[in-house]
Amino acid sequence: AEPILTISGLNVDYGTGTSGVHALRDIDLTLHRGEVLGLAGESGSGKSTLAYAVTRLLSPPGVITGGDVHYHRPGAEPVDILALTPDELRAFRWQELSIVFQGAMNSLNPVHTVHSQLTDVLKAHRPDMRQADRTSRAGELLTLVGISADRLAAYPHQLSGGMRQRVMIAMALALEPEIVIMDEPTTALDVVMQRQILRKLVQLREQLSFSVVFITHDISLLIEFSDRIAIMYGGRIVEQAGAAEIYRDPRHPYSDGLLHSFPALHGPRRELTGIPGSPPHLSAMPAGCAFHPRCGKAFEPCSERVPVLAAPDTGQDREVACWLHH
Ligand code: SF4
Ligand code: MG
Repeated sequence: AEPILTISGLNVDYGTGTSGVHALRDIDLTLHRGEVLGLAGESGSGKSTLAYAVTRLLSPPGVITGGDVHYHRPGAEPVDILALTPDELRAFRWQELSIVFQGAMNSLNPVHTVHSQLTDVLKAHRPDMRQADRTSRAGELLTLVGISADRLAAYPHQLSGGMRQRVMIAMALALEPEIVIMDEPTTALDVVMQRQILRKLVQLREQLSFSVVFITHDISLLIEFSDRIAIMYGGRIVEQAGAAEIYRDPRHPYSDGLLHSFPALHGPRRELTGIPGSPPHLSAMPAGCAFHPRCGKAFEPCSERVPVLAAPDTGQDREVACWLHH
């Protein structure tokens, strides 16, 4: 499939000068048309920062210090997202790309009905649409995410957490974007809900043919639902490959550790050994491979030189950043 979003050499810092720290380093990533791309990694690995950066929602002290993000439309020049003006950005978000952020279900306005919040999105972007058409479109959107249209009159507190999350998805789909980015909460309690949401999103993707970036720390969910997975650690992508390849044959010791941190839903049972230690703080990033203090396979170059993300064997459609493979 052709690319729809390409990220190349993206760097993000928090703060500048001597107090600045690297939050994202040399991110190269492609989202293909129609695919579900999973972004995995422990909290603090840079997953959310990446979502904020590519959608230009990063706020100070976060600053993009290098790289490119392009959006591709068939038969048109690529759109340079980092160069969009505020007006262009407003149109771009929602219509081409929409985002559902962590805890988004709590960002519904408690004093407005679902109807008014869905029709507001349409009003802002489709000023010529008649109010009656907006209402019927709002009902359609709700039905799409598996909620009966008669819940349009409900206030957010009258809906369960999972339903509120689905209302957020309905809103994100209101203008039929080509890309939906979803950044899920990282608490273990939400796993059942995350699975429902992701299943719904994958279903809708098949119906409406958009592309999805789904961000979660739970790699077992991504194995189940995504086409491709990129794994982040310490602000870098350390491995990316098809979901089946990652599951069968993880090449990066961190990917392997993550796979042994969550119960697999299908396939052979893995021992849940987890990963010793905890992820590094941005202000104290280990030299060389940032994973080396926790890696059971670390050897001579690991603490000194950063391994680059590259195909482990020629001609392979996967990449890994580990000295064991280069
Ligand atoms: Fe482990 Fe070295 Fe590979 Fe890093 S580069 S994951 S420390 S073996
Ligand atoms: Mg996050």
